[in-house]
Amino acid sequence: MITRMSSLFLRTLREDPADAEVPSHRLLVRAGYVRRVAPGGYSWLPLGLRVLRNIETVVREEMDAIGGQEIQFPALLPKEPYEATGRWTEYGASLFRLKDRKGADYLLGPTHEELFALTVKGEFSSYKDYPVVLYQIQTKYRDEARPRAGILRGREFVMKDSYSFDLDDAGLERSYQLHREAYIKIFDRLGLDYVVVAATSGAMGGSASEEFLAVAPTGEDTYVRSTESGYAANVEAVTTPAPQEQPIEGRPDAQVHHTPNTPTIETLVDFLNAAGLGRTFTAADTLKNVLVKTRRPGEKSWELLGIGLPGDREVDMKRLEASLEPAEVSLLEEADFTANPFLVKGYIGPEALQDNGIRYLVDPRVARGTAWVTGADKADHHVVDLLCGRDFTPDDMIEAAEVREGDASPDGKGTLVAARGIEIGHIFQLGRKYTDAFEVDALGADSKPIRITMGSYGVGVSRLVAAIAEQSHDELGLVWPRAVAPADVHVVIAGKDEAVAEGAERISADLSARGVRVLLDDRKATPGVKFADAELIGVPTILVVGRGLAKGVVEVKDRASGDRTEIAVDEIVEHLVSLTDR
Ligand code: ATP
Ligand code: MG
Repeated sequence: MITRMSSLFLRTLREDPADAEVPSHRLLVRAGYVRRVAPGGYSWLPLGLRVLRNIETVVREEMDAIGGQEIQFPALLPKEPYEATGRWTEYGASLFRLKDRKGADYLLGPTHEELFALTVKGEFSSYKDYPVVLYQIQTKYRDEARPRAGILRGREFVMKDSYSFDLDDAGLERSYQLHREAYIKIFDRLGLDYVVVAATSGAMGGSASEEFLAVAPTGEDTYVRSTESGYAANVEAVTTPAPQEQPIEGRPDAQVHHTPNTPTIETLVDFLNAAGLGRTFTAADTLKNVLVKTRRPGEKSWELLGIGLPGDREVDMKRLEASLEPAEVSLLEEADFTANPFLVKGYIGPEALQDNGIRYLVDPRVARGTAWVTGADKADHHVVDLLCGRDFTPDDMIEAAEVREGDASPDGKGTLVAARGIEIGHIFQLGRKYTDAFEVDALGADSKPIRITMGSYGVGVSRLVAAIAEQSHDELGLVWPRAVAPADVHVVIAGKDEAVAEGAERISADLSARGVRVLLDDRKATPGVKFADAELIGVPTILVVGRGLAKGVVEVKDRASGDRTEIAVDEIVEHLVSLTDR
């Protein structure tokens, strides 16, 4: 196939779009792949749509290879199935809800567990029908709080979602592993640098789950891995190793101290160390109590929540949100402090929280028998040797403290290092949350019903376009891996000579006849403009047909390495065919 740039629906831009924060967004807009229509809503122009379709093809081939069967659901869905599982409310503000002309409630599908479970229930009834894997490549809708970076986080986006249905846990484990292997093949074929990390299961429910993250400094996810073992996890899924419980008997009593001018942990630690208490304190000996408010889905009112954590750590809002999901979290406003005068800013202690019926959750490091310096619920006062399990009793533990590089790895081997990534895939062993909701059973060999167990597996197909671009570009433009590139060879006619144009046309036709996808720059533009566009568009091989043609040579440029090679005209087609593996 030959695509002629003289008629291609494409305008490249010289300027970066004003709202672009990351390279992929900047370059995909400048190179004319996508255009913004609304916040988190983008149209695909011809070159962009080709890349998207190429990615879809890779995903589809690997899903088919593990026995997945493709089906397609509407995006416009009735409320009832989502009400049955609670997700109509649990999804909170991220769900696009709408009404039809009769006033019936609908939603735009954010993911389709309910519909797949219902469909399997409708079609299959015997244990002999299982296992089954169904998938679709379909448009999803989520009213994201922060649509971002073009197609990286859209409100309308393309996802491959598949669902496995098995008779027992061993079957689910097999289906999960098959998906894991298929995902590895997909992301390898797409030429990505990625990691597989332990994940939390979020609004989906269920247990075992892993994420595939494309390594990128611009990614929104932070993951950690151990320096000495295979441990790797999204920070949201990191569990803090709890220290040993300590005895309560014979420990010093808690004492309240007047600690003037100690509004920060640093000033408090300095004060304590100067106070002659017979030991040295660090920020890690202080207990910081952070107040937030939470609201359960579907409820109007907020509830206060106290989080206790060592004073040398900050609360990580993403970890906190993940721990409290599906409830939403918000920081306190001035009015909340006014309404709750027992909250003495800077001096909040567990006592006032517990006396006033506020739920109090602590970091796992705040184990029974550990002693803390913390607020005494009175301005300029702190309490020393406040013992967990004696002087205060937390309601529960919570993973909300930041995870830091150098922290001990949760598996006890090595320490943690951190990096950032873009979530490109997520696999879950859901279990029976959805099949319980809809009573999806198969009749067993003994005529007894077997409750089906389910897995769900997503790939961010449209996000992948941006994730690949994030990893594969330079200052001149995009650099597509061959598997997804919008063409194999970008032929530049560099010269006004009729013979040059004719030569380029002939080579293009020969390439096309051999199955090579050609993008032919046959525009009436200067070579400079054409070269700049070729670099920007990012087809992996650039063929320059110019003055050398008279001497029987053309130039091949490798977009990624920048290497140029002169090749004899009569060898060029074979050369490019072998290069493009067609
Ligand atoms: P994120 O944490 O990035 O919001 P998620 O965990 O909500 O993603 P899943 O429900 O696991 O996403 O969806 C499966 C896949 O769909 C994700 O791994 C991601 O690649 C893709 N995806 C999710 N949300 C978006 C979005 N708003 N825009 C583009 N792709 C998305
Ligand atoms: Mg996810």
